[in-house]
Amino acid sequence: MGKITGFLEIDRHDRKYTPVAERVKHFREFVIPLTEKETRDQAARCMNCGIPYCHGTGAVTPGTPGCPVNNQIPDFNDLVYRGDWQEASRNLHSTNNFPDFTGRICPAPCEASCTLNIIESPVTIKTIEFAIVERAWENGWLKPELPAEKTGKKVAIVGSGPAGLACAQQLARTGHEVHVYEKHAKAGGLLRYGIPDFKMEKSVIDRRIAQMEAEGVTFHYNSPVGGSAPGAIDPNELAKQYDAVALTGGSESSRDLPIPGRDLKGIHFAMEFLPQQNRRVSGEPLGGVADILAGDKHVVVIGGGDTGSDCIGTSFRQGAKSVVQLEIMPAPPEHENKGLTWPNWPLKMRTSSSQAEGAERDFAVLTQKFSGTGGKVEKLHCVRVDERFKPLPGTEFEIDADLVLLAMGFVHPTHDGLLKTLGVDLDQRGNVRANTSDFKTSKPNVFSAGDMRRGQSLVVWAIREGRLCARAIDLSLMGKTELPR
Ligand SMILES: Cc1cc2nc3c(=O)[nH]c(=O)nc-3n(C[C@H](O)[C@H](O)[C@H](O)COP(=O)(O)OP(=O)(O)OC[C@H]3O[C@@H](n4cnc5c(N)ncnc54)[C@H](O)[C@@H]3O)c2cc1C
Ligand code: SF4
Repeated sequence: MGKITGFLEIDRHDRKYTPVAERVKHFREFVIPLTEKETRDQAARCMNCGIPYCHGTGAVTPGTPGCPVNNQIPDFNDLVYRGDWQEASRNLHSTNNFPDFTGRICPAPCEASCTLNIIESPVTIKTIEFAIVERAWENGWLKPELPAEKTGKKVAIVGSGPAGLACAQQLARTGHEVHVYEKHAKAGGLLRYGIPDFKMEKSVIDRRIAQMEAEGVTFHYNSPVGGSAPGAIDPNELAKQYDAVALTGGSESSRDLPIPGRDLKGIHFAMEFLPQQNRRVSGEPLGGVADILAGDKHVVVIGGGDTGSDCIGTSFRQGAKSVVQLEIMPAPPEHENKGLTWPNWPLKMRTSSSQAEGAERDFAVLTQKFSGTGGKVEKLHCVRVDERFKPLPGTEFEIDADLVLLAMGFVHPTHDGLLKTLGVDLDQRGNVRANTSDFKTSKPNVFSAGDMRRGQSLVVWAIREGRLCARAIDLSLMGKTELPR
């Protein structure tokens, strides 16, 4: 259990970032890893709690405390403390296909629910996870895992985000023939085209795709399933050709702001802006769309989540003159009341690395109108709101803007094309209806997981659902399964 007195002797010490002035000059990752000794010291702080909330409850519902993939955190902390990195990697990969993704971009609900968070110094679990997986790659411990025998069953996965990738990897490792259909030129979903390189460089995805190809997964790129785009595949034909189909197409319909002036030039969804920059970094053509760039502009980002932060960091790296971020919610408290919140994820003021690069943030603000001249946006007309989002008279104000990025989340998956053609039932929120025990949609042998089923969420939840969906498919095809829950 780490060092028995470790938590008393060793302070929490986490990875730092390179200075802002340096990191905004490029799009590479900028987190400075801890040394091996520092990481082992941090692992020594783990108390191997009687009830390790960090480890999670196993429930597939949002808001449950701890790790959504149920990483065996106290166990790998102990292995790292003792220097048995290879066994730590085996342990970590037994619950998480892609700790290199989560070790970079997970918000780490495990750390919020760590017992040591009661005194604001949780074990640096995410940093330890990152160190284990990077060491495993460096030492060549992560090899393709081939199945003992083939089952003769064929499964199609639609969408190559973290849910589709986790599902595909689990199914291939248990012997099924797996084909992943992806409408874009490369695999990864939002990991590839949404999340900027400065949070996760894309070579991290590429090495996993190479591992999966060696495990027998076939990727079909530029292959939209449904719709009328050139090369589109008929989803009903796919369902006939395969023994099972998993729909893991994400939640792609952005929430809009239908107010006067919305049609002015210079107002874009975040997911029109971010993928362009990721493509520029990797040298992938933009596909004939006009450049959206923040250089020399006053940028306003509407929406305060991860997507908004990614717009801020990207704008600064493109040379924005200023970035303002507006949030309709009131400013959360600086510190949570641990007695009320722990071990759950607390609502509190968080400052992302991108926000710390110089964004001005404003809360409880509603944008009522955009205005401009010559068809181009120049101003946002805003008003402050009360806790019920009602405008407060006399608090109207204006903000100058040359570029407005809408980052207010996603309402549900795209319905046209794939989902309408297949005719799968949707739930009240417009997501694909399927439960978390058998992941079956209303169509026989068609399953769904990740954001397409649960709505906009996190990478770690997508991995969890992809794994569980693979188990459900295996059980359905074979009548039994040895894949873990
Ligand atoms: C900008 C941004 C930043 C984020 N940052 C974080 C973060 O820091 N940490 C975190 O945990 N989460 C973050 N998230 C959320 C996270 O990325 C998602 O929850 C996660 O990627 C969902 O995984 P998924 O596999 O369900 O779907 P997606 O990642 O959306 O992948 C779906 C894939 O399906 C493909 N597809 C869709 N329809 C079809 C079709 N008809 N035919 C073929 N292919 C199709 C898409 O092209 C895509 O590749 C962020 C989200 C955004 C938008
Ligand atoms: S809650 Fe924290 S201290 Fe307790 S076992 Fe988990 S990581 Fe270790």
